Amino acid sequence: MVTATEIIGHLNNPTEADKKIIEKAYQMAERAHEGHKRYSGDPYMSHVASVALRLADMGMGPRTITAGLLHDTIEDTEVTDEQIREEFGDEILFLVEGVTKLSSVRYYGTDRHNESLRKLFVATSQDIRVLIIKLVDRLHNMQTLQYVSEEKQLRIARETLEIYVPVAHRLGMGRIRKELEDLAFPYVYPEEYERVQETIRRVVGKADEVLEKERKSLQKELADAGLRDFQTSYRVKGMYSLYHKLKRKEWNLDLIYDLLALRVVVPNVEECYRALGIIHKIWRPLPGRMKDYIAFPKPNGYQSIHTTVTTPAENILEVQIRTQTMHHEAEYGVASHLIYKSKDTDLAGGSWFSKMAPSLFRPFIWREQKRQETEISKDTPHREKIPAWISQIGEMYTHEKSSSQEFVDDMRTDFFHDRIFVFTPNGDVVDLPRGASPIDFAYAIHSEIGDKMSGAKVNQKLVSLDSELHNGDIVEIETRKGAKPTQKWLDGAKTSLAKRRIRSALERAAEA
Ligand code: MN
Repeated sequence: MVTATEIIGHLNNPTEADKKIIEKAYQMAERAHEGHKRYSGDPYMSHVASVALRLADMGMGPRTITAGLLHDTIEDTEVTDEQIREEFGDEILFLVEGVTKLSSVRYYGTDRHNESLRKLFVATSQDIRVLIIKLVDRLHNMQTLQYVSEEKQLRIARETLEIYVPVAHRLGMGRIRKELEDLAFPYVYPEEYERVQETIRRVVGKADEVLEKERKSLQKELADAGLRDFQTSYRVKGMYSLYHKLKRKEWNLDLIYDLLALRVVVPNVEECYRALGIIHKIWRPLPGRMKDYIAFPKPNGYQSIHTTVTTPAENILEVQIRTQTMHHEAEYGVASHLIYKSKDTDLAGGSWFSKMAPSLFRPFIWREQKRQETEISKDTPHREKIPAWISQIGEMYTHEKSSSQEFVDDMRTDFFHDRIFVFTPNGDVVDLPRGASPIDFAYAIHSEIGDKMSGAKVNQKLVSLDSELHNGDIVEIETRKGAKPTQKWLDGAKTSLAKRRIRSALERAAEA
């Protein structure tokens, strides 16, 4: 099992207080989960320790790691929120509670409302660190999915593809996205997975060998051409993204040029173009295959130069050229900006996060930190320039007709602040303004249901029709044949749709 020392070993120059808080959280989690086992038979502690290790490995700070260690305590053990507040303070409690709340966001098996579910998921998290912990939590659950029941496997794997993967993608977290996709793929699409495996069987067996050979020769060529400071590596395309590409290309593997890729990482942008020049000189580029995502980043901020070449050994490879910073961003996305090293973070200035999505990143978090033991390293964003890709993200999307447009608009406005997401008993998501009541819900479902409403249950408890609904509530409307809207409903309605329908029903009743 991963130890506290191992986790601490991944921190960059930890202070004494950093070490202490992680050790303390480790001990508390160990005591709290004592005797609990995972389906695999491993002690439950192995799960939270793995999550914490991965967070540390990603470069997250001690506060996020501490919350990672405690993330299942409130939900699954005797530990109370009061205890966490006393021992670790408000900020850690906020993170742990955030992760706990996210477990109520469930995928119910209908495709219809996935975009709403993703929004609910992001809105519920409220702090980007909560989302990151939850993604890493899910990653470890996916890595150990073989031990749970078949029914549960399918639900969790689908939920991963429908909710977690798109969220990881929007946050630019390429590495975790690929891992989640490839872990979920065989559970959700077993036949398609087999077909992809079969299709690539003839190349995949020797892919590592081929790539390592080509990597070495590229390494030598770049050095011979006078490039000094660079690293090379390779990757095989993820199975799930390959599957989508194969579908688009009628399952013709020869039309897929990025199955095998070499990476060149250099210190700065100038060197990227220099490396591109050298590569095009030594290896024949395929016409029209060069993509400059440095000059034109992808909507989620991804930057690199891509080119497809034929090597002297007749291998067709994609070469991806990027700087160290771009590489880190491509792997960790938003998380790469959570630099905890800065002891002099100026919290008053506000971060680019809060500018990006004010309602998601509540200002009190920053203030709260000032009151915390100052010697624990900060893991909230360094006060730095807003990364270009964040400020450009809106403009980029306006040129794309993807459904992501909506998501980004929402990120840029106070959308989450003004909306709540509630469920029908069947798990469909209904999106309503904040302060909405069962009356609004009923009319949002169908005007007939609104007009005939006689009662409402929220989370299986009877409530008055004008009571306020909250994020994640499951709402059930009871109808009766003779039921009619009353003047009182008008006061209890928030949406113009419900008000309009009630008024016209009242008018009809007055005329009759
Ligand atoms: Mn967990």
